[in-house]
Amino acid sequence: MCGIIGYVGEKKAVPILIDGLKKLEYRGYDSAGIAILENGDLIFEKSAGKIAALEELLTGRDFSCTTGIAHTRWATHGEPTDANAHPHLDCKGELAVVHNGIIENYRSLKEVLERKGHKFTTDTDTEIVAHLIEEYYQGDLVEAVRTAMSQVEGTYGIAVLSLRNPSEIGNRRRPPRQPSGHRLRAG
Ligand code: GLU
Repeated sequence: MCGIIGYVGEKKAVPILIDGLKKLEYRGYDSAGIAILENGDLIFEKSAGKIAALEELLTGRDFSCTTGIAHTRWATHGEPTDANAHPHLDCKGELAVVHNGIIENYRSLKEVLERKGHKFTTDTDTEIVAHLIEEYYQGDLVEAVRTAMSQVEGTYGIAVLSLRNPSEIGNRRRPPRQPSGHRLRAG
């Protein structure tokens, strides 16, 4: 089961995010990634394998940012590769999404988004979320996330980071459907 952590605050975000991922390690995962807002840029790193591999990509870089999201993935759609690791970005590279769960109707949403010109670079179900939010974004991140996720069928926890809304993280959660109760037979 994967893990998600987000941070918005006054402290340096990267150590908090990496520490948070390590606390979630016991859940099991196959890759890890991080997205941060640093000096007006959205920066992301991701890697198949252990969190240590992600840390290596960040070594020697001093990030002062105080906002970010991070993820450990347990692949359901697409191999556990660097490219399929989260975060996933929109076409402009302004928005990053991490996701826990499965988007059941991702194929049909992907077809519609491709017809509208969106370019996909991974095999995951998750990537459609970044493009869907991009499609609905009109200045209000939370509203765009809400509208996008109303199109999505499945189970999810997501966290969204946007260059255009640097002091907030969009998030949304839909837990698995509860199994319907057994019907008692009359008689
Ligand atoms: N379905 C997504 C994927 O395969 C998320 C898996 C997860 O919950 O880690 O990337």
